[in-house]
Amino acid sequence: MDAPSTTQVQQVREITRIERTGAHSHIRGLGLNDSLEARAVSQGMVGQLKARRAAGLILEMIKEGKIAGRALLIAGQPGTGKTAIAMGIAQALGSDTPFTAMSGSEIFSLEMSKTEALTQAFRRSIGVRIKEEAEFIEGEVVEIQIDRPATGTGAKIGKMTLKTTEMETIYDLGQKMIEALTKEKVQAGDVIAIDKASGKISRLGRSFTRAKDYDAMGPQTKFVQCPEGELQKRKEVVHTVTLHEIDVINSRSQGFLALFSGDTGEIKSEVREQINDKVAEWREEGKAEIVPGVLFIDEVHMLDIECFSFLNRALESDMAPILIVATNRGITKIRGTNQQSPHGIPIDLLDRLLIITTKPYELDEIKQILKIRCEEEDVETSDDALNVLTKIGKETSLRYSIQLITLSSIISRNRKAREVSIEDVKRVYEVFLDEARSSDNLREYEQYFMF
Ligand code: ATP
Repeated sequence: MDAPSTTQVQQVREITRIERTGAHSHIRGLGLNDSLEARAVSQGMVGQLKARRAAGLILEMIKEGKIAGRALLIAGQPGTGKTAIAMGIAQALGSDTPFTAMSGSEIFSLEMSKTEALTQAFRRSIGVRIKEEAEFIEGEVVEIQIDRPATGTGAKIGKMTLKTTEMETIYDLGQKMIEALTKEKVQAGDVIAIDKASGKISRLGRSFTRAKDYDAMGPQTKFVQCPEGELQKRKEVVHTVTLHEIDVINSRSQGFLALFSGDTGEIKSEVREQINDKVAEWREEGKAEIVPGVLFIDEVHMLDIECFSFLNRALESDMAPILIVATNRGITKIRGTNQQSPHGIPIDLLDRLLIITTKPYELDEIKQILKIRCEEEDVETSDDALNVLTKIGKETSLRYSIQLITLSSIISRNRKAREVSIEDVKRVYEVFLDEARSSDNLREYEQYFMF
């Protein structure tokens, strides 16, 4: 058989990444209260109270800028929410905080060196929040607010959105809006009075600007003034991109297309240096700020000694993201050496790590997580179907039963049912194997797989 092409390998990897973050779309934060205690169920998070509380303290360290040079290790069995907690930290830092989840084994790719793969992962996890001034674009819907004259307190004259026809200024829009309301031609600076009781609108002219004129009209009248001049020709647009995205866009003639296909290849160090300089310039000019994201590396024991020394060095950089690593291994060999170490991590990196642990879930916690996932995926289930999914989650794995939700909902939709029934779950359970049944199956048919 032909070896898969590098593009295919890359695509599979990108899809795995999407799948991994999609599985956590219900996580909106760590679900802590003001005194950093974990609420039983909050922000999509369930149970794992001790680990979440510890993560909350780490979040405080991050916010106070005291995490530099350190990283977090989450030790726990598969499916105990290690990725979910890392995601919760990222979410709690802000909705535009980049979050990258990967597995240690992904580093050993066919088309790039280990350090290149790690560098890309680091740069995917550093956001650049860019502030730009943009003109209004044709066809854009804008909502405008016109200040009440004299006070400038910003009274809105009714909710109204206007579609811009071409490049227009707020001034043009304001004028259009008042003309639409009063059916009269207005000029910049004109004051419009609206009688609150009758809704009657009258144009008072631009000379009507003294406070006593307003008082004379009485409190039943609301005033608006057509804005003068080009109040705000441009508006500020803020968007966050990652350093990696900037690298890719600048390293190829069709850079941004490479972002879609995921086939980014190696990026030259000169490109990265130029981009670092450019970003530093933008920061100085106040046009951009750095948003350190979260880089989560699961199965960290799969990394080798070279990768670990890269991590040690990278943590010292002033633009480093928050590094969170995870493993379920105890004492094991550090790859690339003959030495044993806790979690397969060299002592010098271990020294920098704050360690928290996750523990297996109770039945009611699994049920609660599955319920949240059903809501997230817009799937209705019958009570007994949810109970069966919960049992499957306890006996096989949480991740497997979460997958069964999606699969059984497809079956129920096909038979035009409103909710997933126990029968739907049974069907997908029989068709799709969990890990244990799959390996039993392989063992049973072993002789057929041997050549
Ligand atoms: P692995 O080591 O296999 O990567 P993990 O410990 O990272 O597993 P997750 O992937 O976080 O486990 O958990 C499996 C699924 O269950 C995910 O969809 C995750 O979002 C969800 N989940 C796990 N723990 C919680 C929790 N405490 N609250 C809400 N959802 C959770």
